[in-house]
Amino acid sequence: MKKAHMIPRSELSWQVTWQQELQQLFTHPQTLLAEVGLDDSWLPMAQKAAALFPLRATRPFVSRIEKGNPHDPLLRQILPLGDELDSPPHFQTDPLQEAHFNPVPGIIHKYKHRVLLLASSQCAIHCRYCFRRSFPYENNRLTQKHWQAALDYIAKTPALNEVILSGGDPLSLGDSQLNTLVKALAEIPHLKRVRIHTRLPIMVPSRITQACIESFAQTRLKPIMVIHCNHANELDSNVKQALRVMHSTGVTLLNQTVLLRGVNDTVEQLITLSESLFESSVLPYYLHLLDPVSGAAHFDVSEEEAQCLMRTIMAKLPGFLVPKLVREIPDRPSKTPICVITNPGQ
Ligand SMILES: *Cc1c(COP(=O)(O)O)cnc(C)c1O
Ligand code: SF4
Repeated sequence: MKKAHMIPRSELSWQVTWQQELQQLFTHPQTLLAEVGLDDSWLPMAQKAAALFPLRATRPFVSRIEKGNPHDPLLRQILPLGDELDSPPHFQTDPLQEAHFNPVPGIIHKYKHRVLLLASSQCAIHCRYCFRRSFPYENNRLTQKHWQAALDYIAKTPALNEVILSGGDPLSLGDSQLNTLVKALAEIPHLKRVRIHTRLPIMVPSRITQACIESFAQTRLKPIMVIHCNHANELDSNVKQALRVMHSTGVTLLNQTVLLRGVNDTVEQLITLSESLFESSVLPYYLHLLDPVSGAAHFDVSEEEAQCLMRTIMAKLPGFLVPKLVREIPDRPSKTPICVITNPGQ
């Protein structure tokens, strides 16, 4: 077993615990509108859209929103809008057809050597564009009792070398549950890596606790954390501190972004995002084209426009700060890269 890296406790003394933050979520459109300084004209549509997919946002995230700006790129990710109510027919409820790859509750096994373990059905926030808006979480609500079936599946599938804790948000589990899960995975001999896909360090930086870090610092598995940040404004000083401490204990930090109309669909926003991530020791990994989920069509950026954005950012950033532009196509053995051909002389 690896020796735990020492983390000075003072680095992680959060004033409000993450559990307290999760009890103080914004869940009513009216409260959110008041907090961000927008008038009630937004309310009727926000309520209608929230009836289909409830509003959920954390205080630390909302505190980074510019007051009185309905176009704020962080606000657009969480505020239910009338636009969600009419989606073109090719925007579906299960665009990735994940239900086909769900061999036991809590497992999504699409790619040969890695598997998703849906460790928790909870998220600290509801991202309006989320492709899991309509995923049947009821059938995948994992309790520790159900983990055994998922762990058995992983143990009897020797082709697997990596488990990706996903959800929901796997960091909405408590530290002791997380630790139990990581330990159980480390006992499966064919696994090499444990990866965690989480938005919580952005939404509630105090989620990065001493115990959470130790779960990853102590395991024999190589730990990777993939955060999900769409805009540089999401990275305030608390988030940066949480990421810095995580990185200093040997966790590889990567970021995935969804390309979203009105949030990050400009060259400047994408460049600033990559630069800010790197300042926090995070490397850009994927830039996803939106999955065509019902209710999110207003966020869509076309493939051609995405390629054009990529061409420009490639000319302005070092290669390691350029994310891979990808799309998820059901039945493919991996994410599908979108080819970007640079023009000579550009
Ligand atoms: C995206 C995804 C993964 C991880 O893919 P990587 O390319 O390794 O990041 C694994 N399983 C499923 C079902 C996925 O959608
Ligand atoms: S945190 Fe991730 S899984 Fe949860 S709502 Fe947002 S995009 Fe979806």
